Formats: sequence, structure tokens, C-alpha cells
Amino acid sequence: MSCYEHSTKTMEPRTPGVIPLELKNGARVKSNDVPPQGVYRPSYNILTPNMRSPEYVQMSTAAALTLGIMQGKMHRCECTRCLNLLLTYPEGCRANCAYCGLARHREAERDYADRNFIRVDWPAVPLEQTIDIVAKDGEKSPFHRMCISMITHPRSDEDTVTVLKKWTDRIDPKAIPVSILSNPTTMTREDVKRLHGLGADIFTVALDAATPEIFDRTRGKGVQSPHSWSKYWEILMDARDIFGPQKFGAHIIVGMGETERDVLSLVQKLVDLGGHSHMFCFFPEKGSLMDHLPATPRDQWRRVQLARYLIDYRGVRFENMRFDEAGRVVDYGIPESELQTIVGEGVAFRTSGCPGKFADDVSACDRPYGDSPPSNIASYPFQPNGNDLRTIRNQLKLKRGQSN
Ligand code: SF4
Repeated sequence: MSCYEHSTKTMEPRTPGVIPLELKNGARVKSNDVPPQGVYRPSYNILTPNMRSPEYVQMSTAAALTLGIMQGKMHRCECTRCLNLLLTYPEGCRANCAYCGLARHREAERDYADRNFIRVDWPAVPLEQTIDIVAKDGEKSPFHRMCISMITHPRSDEDTVTVLKKWTDRIDPKAIPVSILSNPTTMTREDVKRLHGLGADIFTVALDAATPEIFDRTRGKGVQSPHSWSKYWEILMDARDIFGPQKFGAHIIVGMGETERDVLSLVQKLVDLGGHSHMFCFFPEKGSLMDHLPATPRDQWRRVQLARYLIDYRGVRFENMRFDEAGRVVDYGIPESELQTIVGEGVAFRTSGCPGKFADDVSACDRPYGDSPPSNIASYPFQPNGNDLRTIRNQLKLKRGQSN
């Protein structure tokens, strides 16, 4: 499927079903009220314990492996450099974003702590146990960054503050800086100030959709979800004022019906404001309202990845790029030889996100296989090798000495 066919019309989410009253708001977990005992691994065969932040947080499978609380290996990845801590409640996230595995419409089918999110399971772990391990590792910690991921829940603002305080009481935020993946819908400017005052380093807003129409369709009124584009921008601008240049950013999912031109003009806008964009390739998450839709074609994704990298880190401007009638990049606005060098360096195709300790343009948050299967990698969670670069060049339809 070409990117022209992968258009707004074809990327229509399903309508959420009606949830029986007795299954709403985590009722099943709350009525069973099974006390949690240590680490909980998502399982559909036992009753889900009644776990709640700030005592409990969830973390990605990659983070649990790196922390040593789960055993196993991930394809071509030794460890992750970012410890993502996701707030957890039996009621789960009260929003209904169409592409998200955590969305509210799943409450009939699966308890919150058992839901897949960005293609992986998220074990639930006592916060104290997590902090103990990282504090004990001290300077040897593999983590370059910690990220608190808020969800839409009435307790989320307060519990984010508690998790941040408990962390910074034991771990120097200069040694392992903290990012906040915010939930603007429940937040005020004061909340943003409070998190900054408590030592958070970077503040990000998961805009996810590249245009207001796609936002509304996938995470606003279109799917009975409470978010609004204007509120997200309000908090993003608060973060810009309070956290300052290079310390705020926005997440964007590529391939939900926008054109390449749409998404890259947003990337330029964020750079002009002093921030960064963190990109995700749309993948039909199992159980989500968009699980019947196609993943973003690789040619489209690679062009956007490359162009975004040029705008974010190489001073190239959106206005100097050229697009065809379907909004696809046909000229990246730099000489052919330079483009070839940057493609060959491979960094443009790695996972994007908040920086770690290696380089400004290398994300600590590598989210292994969060937006693709290992057999057809979208965001590389490691430095692409020669074979990977051959694949990337083919996907870009870029031979050596030929820019498009
Ligand atoms: S607010 Fe975040 S966690 Fe909640 S449904 Fe939307 S994308 Fe998922």
C-alpha cells in the first residue's frame, strides 16, 4: 500500500462498544480484591491483584529485563537505557485513544494491568523495590534516564509528584535525569511548575496526532475520549516556558492519515519553539480500536524519520524540502552527498526520544519493538549495521548516488 492510499479515509478507528456496568471502572479487580504480592506479570489465568500507584508502577518488558526482575532476552538488544514507569490503577486510563492498548474500551475484555501497550506486556512492580535496585546499582546503573508516564486518571497528577519525590529522595536526578510523559487533560500550569521544581528534567506531551482533525478522530470526541488539541497545546506551551529550550517535546505517531508534509511542518514548528519531536511509527496494536488497520508503509516512515532528523539535529528547514502532490518528500533540501553521509551514519533511523548519555541525538528511550516486530524494524533500538542500512536504503528507494 502506498502512502497515498494510507490516507485519512482508510485510517478510520472502530466505534467503541458499550461496557456493561458491572465491568466498568476496574470493578472486577476491585471486587475480587486480591492483595498483590511482589512483582506481577500480566497473566490471563489468574485473578489480577488490586494494585495502585504510587505503591505500584508498571514498566516495559525491556525495563524489567534490564532491572533483572524478569529473565529473558530481546532480539539484538542487551538492555534499555530508559526506565519507563507507568502509573497503574484498577480503573486504568479513563481515556479511549483509538491506537492505544491501554484504552478504556478494553475494560470488558481485559483488566488494566494485563493490557498490552506498544506491543509488549508491562509487569507491575512495587515502586520501592524498583528504586532499591537502581539505588543499589549506583553509578553502575544501566539506565541513563527515568520517565514517569502519566495516564488519564483523577489520581495521576498527585501520584506523579509522589513517584518523583520518592525517586529523587534516593537517586540524584543529575545522575539519572527524569522525564515526564504528561497527561495534559487533567493538568494545570501549576502542575507543570511543581514537577519542574521537584527536579524533572524534560517534559513531553503525547500529542500523538499530527493534525487537530486526526487528534479529534483518534483521541477526542470521535472515540468518546476526553482529550482536546487545544488543551494539549496549552500544556505544551506551559512546558516551553517553564522547562525551557531543548527540555520539552511532543510525541507524534506517523501514519494515522496525515501526509508527510503535515507531520514535518509540525516537526519544524516544535523546533522553532525550541523543542523536539519524538516519533512513533503507527502499528495496529492488538485489542485497540485501530487493530484492523495497516501499519505505516516503510517507505513513508523512513522518509519522515530521515526528514525529521534533518530538521531536529542538522539545521535543515522544512521550507527547503519539496513534496509531491500527495505530500510525500521528494527532496530533503540538502546536497545529495550530505544526504548519503547522514543516511550512512544510521542515527536518523534509531528510536527517537529524550537523550541519554551517549549523544544528544541518541535517545535513552529505545522502546525495543514498540512500533514494529523484530522481523521488520521501524525504529531501531540499536545502531543499525551494514545489513540494516541496506534494508533502510531499499525502503527509502535510495541507492548510493541517488537521492530519491
Ligand atoms: S491517554 Fe495515553 S494511556 Fe490513556 S488511552 Fe490515551 S494514549 Fe493510552
